[in-house]
Amino acid sequence: MTTPPSTAETESADEPESALVTARRQLERAATHVDVDPGVVERLKHPTRVQQVSVPLEREDGTVEVFTGYRAQHDDVRGPYKGGLRYHPEVSAEECIGLSMWMTWKCAVMDLPFGGGKGGIAVDPKSLTDDETERLTRRFAEELRDVVGPTKDVPAPDMGTDAQTMAWFMDAYSMQQGETIPGVVTGKPPVIGGSYGREEAPGRSTAIAAREAIRYYDREVSETTVAVQGFGSVGANAARLLHEWGASIVAVSDVNGAVYDADGLDVEAIPSHHEEPEAVTSFATDLKDDDSVRRLSNADLLELDVDVLIPAAVGNVLTADNADAVSADIVVEGANGPTTFAADAVLEERDVPVIPDILANAGGVTVSYFEWLQDINRRQWSLERVNEELEDHMLEAWTDLRDVVDAEGLTWRDAAYVVALSRIAEAKETRGLWP
Ligand code: GLU
Repeated sequence: MTTPPSTAETESADEPESALVTARRQLERAATHVDVDPGVVERLKHPTRVQQVSVPLEREDGTVEVFTGYRAQHDDVRGPYKGGLRYHPEVSAEECIGLSMWMTWKCAVMDLPFGGGKGGIAVDPKSLTDDETERLTRRFAEELRDVVGPTKDVPAPDMGTDAQTMAWFMDAYSMQQGETIPGVVTGKPPVIGGSYGREEAPGRSTAIAAREAIRYYDREVSETTVAVQGFGSVGANAARLLHEWGASIVAVSDVNGAVYDADGLDVEAIPSHHEEPEAVTSFATDLKDDDSVRRLSNADLLELDVDVLIPAAVGNVLTADNADAVSADIVVEGANGPTTFAADAVLEERDVPVIPDILANAGGVTVSYFEWLQDINRRQWSLERVNEELEDHMLEAWTDLRDVVDAEGLTWRDAAYVVALSRIAEAKETRGLWP
């Protein structure tokens, strides 16, 4: 395993800080707001375990390539490790550790009986055929078999993985265990124990968080303009729900760039990444006779003068270099870690509220929890029930954060950390350190 960088490392324009550096800084900052035993904070700076595995794959041409996979397990004081598996060329031990820390806080903010985990394979999923992805996933499941399980560590989809990936993972694990164990992963297709509404859940919770923030700052959703970076599962679902609730979605983007319409886009008509990969800008090209639709870069989208900006693509897009140029009144983090520590400070200074990822996109893991309950009980919930329970959980978490924001004048991120860290620290202090 690579040595994690020290927390003293600083962000530079060329090299944004890693998820681990950001996560540790956020923890240290949160600890100043909570009356918590320093020993607990020290323990939370380090993951319990990081599993690194080689994942050999026979390519279609018969050659063998070996990829590296990871599973970081940060903390399980409140329940099994929980978090996604990411297939992306930049996956590393360090990134998985940082992301697993965020999962610990995310589950605690939502008061779910889970800890934090994250893993993945350093691979470009676009370079694999479907058969290769299946073989790679089954072998990865086999390599992780000893450290995962419904009461130990429960993976889920993340960047570059989806319901089908989880189906292969669950099948490989179950075949080796000799019985069908749907609760080993969440985010599966409903036909094999997945939950209705899981796929849309991170986007739905992002939209709910945006709606509550809009109301908190005395505005109407129907009079709000929104720009969404990323039109994958999170961005597309958040944009479509906010559109349905009356907001005007003026810009959306994918990796190739953004489309902008001051009068509001018909986001239902734009295919999400899942429906047709990278179709946002080709949609704009098809509309070339419509003068009101313009193409923008992703960087321009982040600086649009809108009421709400939702970065819902990748991490580290709001940095020390562009945070000053953000013109939105509210930022709602759909992606994990879109705002660097330095950018956060700039936005705080400028009084731009940032609704943090560990609340906004927590619908994914919350419906994962519902899925896990359904799997254990061998009973499927209706979509209506899932969405109602998600709404209730989001409103409860929102109220918990809002009370801290109102009482202590903290940022939304600090408030989320205060809520999460208090719950985790209480559990750690109650259980004690042994041996
Ligand atoms: N990968 C998602 C996240 O970052 C979901 C994790 C889960 O459902 O366990 O929150």
